[in-house]
Amino acid sequence: MRPIVAHISETALAHNLAQVRRYAPHSRVIAVVKANAYGHGLLNAARGLKETDAFAVLNISEAVALREAGYQHPILLLEGIFSAEEMALVDRYQLDIVVSHHGQLQWLLDYQVNIPVRAYLKLDSGMHRLGFQPADYQDALNQLASSGNVSEIVLMTHFANADVPDGVTQAMATVARVTDAQPYQRSLANSAAVIQQPRTHANWVRPGIMLYGATPIAEKTAASLGLKPVMTLQSGVIGIQEIQAGESVGYGSLFTADTVTRVGIVACGYADGYPRHAPSGTPIAVNGVLTRTLGRVSMDMLAADITHIPDARIGSPVELWGNLVPVDAVAQASGTIGYELLCAVTARVPMHVID
Ligand SMILES: *Cc1c(COP(=O)(O)O)cnc(C)c1O
Repeated sequence: MRPIVAHISETALAHNLAQVRRYAPHSRVIAVVKANAYGHGLLNAARGLKETDAFAVLNISEAVALREAGYQHPILLLEGIFSAEEMALVDRYQLDIVVSHHGQLQWLLDYQVNIPVRAYLKLDSGMHRLGFQPADYQDALNQLASSGNVSEIVLMTHFANADVPDGVTQAMATVARVTDAQPYQRSLANSAAVIQQPRTHANWVRPGIMLYGATPIAEKTAASLGLKPVMTLQSGVIGIQEIQAGESVGYGSLFTADTVTRVGIVACGYADGYPRHAPSGTPIAVNGVLTRTLGRVSMDMLAADITHIPDARIGSPVELWGNLVPVDAVAQASGTIGYELLCAVTARVPMHVID
């Protein structure tokens, strides 16, 4: 067996959920588990997050998987339904839906539900991705409010810039202008807003990335925000080279030694989801000691500098990211964000829930 494995910590998930409640003590929590729980495995993550008040997913199939695993929480379809036919499953599995355009509104109004649905009416507060325009919002709200198919309405928006300090001012002004007179509950905040925009917390917060122990805010580390990494991507050394000054490692000979260098070849590459763009110098840990990658990442392997880790040998454990190496540090070195790396771990990497 190749030594690569992703360990998923249930206690870290529970800890991060508790941190959400500390940041937003007056809100209920919708744990966002879309994208296979940001790459952690939907049902793995759901176990660690079972104390949440609700879940949010993208596809009906994910919602059905949660129901079939026995979860009776409210489950929100974050982009609503994609066709009128999906109303049958919404009704059968008692799912909550986002309504973000007139077509979705009509599909909900036209279907004969057995059990009325909780609908999240989405306002475009300036991100210009999904949602009703402010001028159309009141009319859509009136139609939902007068429909027997709707049990409860939640007013919803999503922020484009909650990760920058003053990033929600304009959007919040739009939310206030359009919804202030309304008696309904509200759901506005993603992870960044949970952490640094307290006035957005409202009735339901929708954290994703922070539950997995990565940072939503580029300037702040996850550890400094009180978050614990949930995934440890670990592998092992499968080869050792000693190269002389002037010799190189890997495709393209991108790293050339300027002194005698001991190189550990690690069983992890871009076909496992490790970013090919990670340059020489990306942090990595061998035998529990922090070091750096060397040269270009290949499909199945990468190289680590073990010159200063004399006890490293074939079989030594390697942490690609986890407690010693924040996924955000690997992401930053590679010009991306922790979200993308976590979601990109590939199916060939075995995943095990620990603790
Ligand atoms: C993905 C998503 C979230 C969670 O965002 P994070 O930045 O991961 O906290 C919240 N709301 C909506 C509508 C989303 O699509």
